[in-house]
Amino acid sequence: MKSSKTARSSPTAPRRLTPAELPAPDWWPAAAEALLAAHGYGPQGLALTPNPEPLDGLIRLILAQQNTWAVAQRQWEALKAAYPRWEAALLAEPDEIAAVLKGAGGGLAQSKAKSIWGILQRLAEERGQPSLRFLRRLPPTEARAFLQGLPGVGRRTASLLLLFHLAQPAAAVDGNIERLLHRLEVVPPGWKADRQEEWLEGVLPADAAYRAAFHRAGVRHGREICTRRDPACPACVLRTWCSSAQFFMGDGNAAARPTD
Ligand code: SF4
Repeated sequence: MKSSKTARSSPTAPRRLTPAELPAPDWWPAAAEALLAAHGYGPQGLALTPNPEPLDGLIRLILAQQNTWAVAQRQWEALKAAYPRWEAALLAEPDEIAAVLKGAGGGLAQSKAKSIWGILQRLAEERGQPSLRFLRRLPPTEARAFLQGLPGVGRRTASLLLLFHLAQPAAAVDGNIERLLHRLEVVPPGWKADRQEEWLEGVLPADAAYRAAFHRAGVRHGREICTRRDPACPACVLRTWCSSAQFFMGDGNAAARPTD
């Protein structure tokens, strides 16, 4: 005879939905369109011009990781002055590249130099030249897989490259968009940027111009309206749909909101 402990059926925890399985609420398309319109974009989105050399775009994105735009731009200019062609950077040591980046200011010079040199070396070894032009001929999933296999390139950097430099319909999530989606409560509180990107892939139109506009609008909305500490809910075009608006317009304790 089974003991009462083993005979009792244990409650089974419900399986969590994957990003691809979680549907968007009915109001999502209207809210996304309102977000775009609030930041000057129509439903046609943002016209994109593919970068003639996506490797330049990738190196700029690596420099921009945890740097301000101004510092990343200074580092880019210093790098191009020291190495007008990437073949020249490949002949240098990572420490020399790091010294160039340090001279332009900004942090993480050593690890960024190591990533940049590692990318150049891998491309030279595997593709015969330091170039990412071949990515234009690959399906987006293969291009993403190749990019995410490069040193210093995570999902977000790959998404930004696919979207803004290859004009592929990728979805990219930064800290501003991550906070916005949590406050709208369209994704579970524990989902970080990677899962949110996967979710957006399924709920935004598969159009690069639309997704580029959504990214720009979402980032700007997070910086100017749905800020971390003091969201301007009364001025927000999303407040009709936002589950957090009442909270912030009530006691206003933004810092205590658990999903931020
Ligand atoms: Fe953010 Fe408030 Fe707008 Fe909601 S209503 S998205 S909390 S600014």
